[in-house]
Amino acid sequence: MSESQKPYRILLYYKYVHIENPEQFTADHLAFCKELGLKGRILVAEEGINGTVSGTVEQTNAYMEKMHADPRFSDLWFKIDEAEEHAFKKMFVRHKQELVTFRLEEDVDPNQLTGKYLSPKEFYEELQNEDIIVLDGRNDYEYDIGHFRGAIRPDVKAFRDFPEWIRENLSQFKDKKVLTYCTGGIRCEKLSGLLLKEGFKDVNQLHGGIVTYGKDPEVQGRLWDGKCYVFDERISVPINQTEEDVVVGKCYHCGKAEDRYVNCANPDCNLQHVCCEECEPIHKRSCSKECQEHPKNRYLAGSESDREEEFLSETLG
Ligand SMILES: [Zn+2]
Ligand SMILES: [Zn+2]
Repeated sequence: MSESQKPYRILLYYKYVHIENPEQFTADHLAFCKELGLKGRILVAEEGINGTVSGTVEQTNAYMEKMHADPRFSDLWFKIDEAEEHAFKKMFVRHKQELVTFRLEEDVDPNQLTGKYLSPKEFYEELQNEDIIVLDGRNDYEYDIGHFRGAIRPDVKAFRDFPEWIRENLSQFKDKKVLTYCTGGIRCEKLSGLLLKEGFKDVNQLHGGIVTYGKDPEVQGRLWDGKCYVFDERISVPINQTEEDVVVGKCYHCGKAEDRYVNCANPDCNLQHVCCEECEPIHKRSCSKECQEHPKNRYLAGSESDREEEFLSETLG
């Protein structure tokens, strides 16, 4: 690997592995991350860990080394982006019941049941095959600013909506080859398992997710249109290195091509929506007239986006 050019790094990672006493692990891990000077968000559950953190090259190296020294995480795969600065303002480590959940009676355990892993090159080759189904494993708002060409847009606001949506919309494709993808791979581990459970016969997932696909030196992000939504202050990152930057998102207000997400300035609404620079002051960074006039409107109060304080996302990759 080449030497890092920039002073900071952003790590994205997950591992489904049994964590005994996750509450204690959460508290210890928060202390450890703070001691290192990292910032970011980490989810801890009995079924594993999912995190995205930023820090200097030294800090992130120290974190990766320490994690790899733990037998549970010895093969933990860190996806690394270089950066000029931190991508978060604070360090959060939260305990959750599951890393990502369908809220099914019986959850999918990716260590027992998951789709076949495809490398970026294999995925790229399959994408050019006519007789396949490509399913985006993320939420609608992630799809809307960028996705693989020809992929199905899941009409879901949250991961837990997938089982019902799949039953209602994809049942006729059970005999087709299915490709799934998500940001860093964590959601596809469960989504592909769910598809197999539902009777789909040939289920494949993009190993390492979109962010890995975008870095593959051979594939170079081909057949990806738009940007990839990420869970840090960058909000989105480019993937396709070969073609002109296609903007697939649209401003919520004026409809112009745009891929800039903001949270509605009404703290009781918070709706994440695409908003162009021109429309932001006009609409006071709000999704509706009501939100614009709301007494607690943060845009009027002069505060910047409250993205960092929220930690509303159900997953980090
Ligand atoms: Zn606009
Ligand atoms: Zn709103």
